Amino acid sequence: MAEKTFKYVIVGGGVAAGYAAREFSKQGIKPGELAVISKEAVAPYERPALSKAYLFPESPARLPGFHVCVGSGGERLLPDWYKEKGIELILSTEIVKADLASKSLTSAAGDTFKYQILIIATGSTVIRLTDFGVQGADAKNIFYLREVEDADKLYETIKAKKNGKAVIVGGGYIGLELSAVLKLNNLDVTMVYPEPWCMPRLFTSGIASFYEGYYANKGINIIKGTVAVGFNADSNGEVKEVKLKDGRVLEADIVVVGVGGRPLTTLFKGQVEEEKGGIKTDASFKTSVPDVYAVGDVATFPLKLYNELRRVEHVDHSRKSAEQSVKAIKASEDGKAIEEYDYLPFFYSRAFNLSWQFYGDNVGDTVLFGDNNPESPNPKFGSYWIKDGKVVGAFLESGTPEENKAIAKVARVQPPVENVDRLAKEGLSFASKI
Ligand SMILES: Cc1cc2nc3c(=O)[nH]c(=O)nc-3n(C[C@H](O)[C@H](O)[C@H](O)COP(=O)(O)OP(=O)(O)OC[C@H]3O[C@@H](n4cnc5c(N)ncnc54)[C@H](O)[C@@H]3O)c2cc1C
Repeated sequence: MAEKTFKYVIVGGGVAAGYAAREFSKQGIKPGELAVISKEAVAPYERPALSKAYLFPESPARLPGFHVCVGSGGERLLPDWYKEKGIELILSTEIVKADLASKSLTSAAGDTFKYQILIIATGSTVIRLTDFGVQGADAKNIFYLREVEDADKLYETIKAKKNGKAVIVGGGYIGLELSAVLKLNNLDVTMVYPEPWCMPRLFTSGIASFYEGYYANKGINIIKGTVAVGFNADSNGEVKEVKLKDGRVLEADIVVVGVGGRPLTTLFKGQVEEEKGGIKTDASFKTSVPDVYAVGDVATFPLKLYNELRRVEHVDHSRKSAEQSVKAIKASEDGKAIEEYDYLPFFYSRAFNLSWQFYGDNVGDTVLFGDNNPESPNPKFGSYWIKDGKVVGAFLESGTPEENKAIAKVARVQPPVENVDRLAKEGLSFASKI
């Protein structure tokens, strides 16, 4: 059993790990000082691609095309980049034990990794229907999507089940993006979710009615207000039917489940303070344990703009929190301080020819503006969220880069609203004046 010692170790090899490695390199590290340890077999990549271009029927995206940091317009860090920088990329290595008191990690193969400073970047894992004991949920061709390995298996099955039937369980990000891309693959797609409209965590009913109408026009069947309670399989163990709580039974050759995720904090349970399901950090992503930082999906950090602790499961935050933590580590070595993390929440999604962006906080009253008719040749619409007389959140479908910048500014500046009806009429022009 080998033992290796590094000055810095990043556990996890996803988006945050990749952006942290780049920041370490920018800030200056010596060869051999940094290791990235990942369960995955590939160097850090831009995870959002997996539910989008990775599954396209024509010219799908493949690695090495989308290694970090291309998603934010940066340099693509190929495995050789880590080698050149003297960063040890330790792949296909799952850490199964973390002892923060003795600053040591143990892999499934029994190797030990010692560190001076640890960055936890283990991200999230999917919630599985088998976790709730849903009958038949372990049948073949029931998929979850988190890592490139999952996407490869799904892609192969999409090709094998040409013109077959797909049932998508869940109406959130994964549900909406996967329904679209499976439809592009010519599958007969049905979405099932219990809520009254899709993506209720963010969408208002006005926003959702556009997407539901648009998807219906594309031939996607939407079943709301019920859940999958069981699955029937054929003699090969392959899923054939999805049983719904309302008694309906849907035929299925492929099922994709997107019912949420949970942060991977298990390794550190009882050793570090937790809050809101994640590892509690300060504005530098320092945890309650000295020399241990947590970034990306696992971090519950102070969101300065709203003066509260939050956990954010989005790629923009994973990149920025990773960079912030490394800046803080390097600054503290020089006895310096850095500016507090001042994050403006930013979420986005893309499906078919649609593309939306959201900035800020989705609380308070809402105002819908623009053309949200799913039949329109060029729909463009948005929504503002208003709390205590100020606009605190803004959503826009099909915005130009300038328009998206304008709504981001609105969410950051939080301008007062005197007249809600006027705001609805002004729509985007309100944002462009801020
Ligand atoms: C299919 C999909 C599509 C998405 N689309 C969008 C989108 O359109 N917009 C958006 O804002 N966000 C999107 N997200 C969310 C976004 O990708 C995540 O918020 C982001 O990847 C989080 O970064 P992270 O580094 O914290 O975690 P991850 O990128 O998940 O990386 C965690 C890494 O840690 C590794 N790991 C975990 N445990 C261990 C262990 N014990 N030992 C070793 N390695 C370990 C994992 O294998 C993984 O490599 C999407 C997520 C998925 C899954």
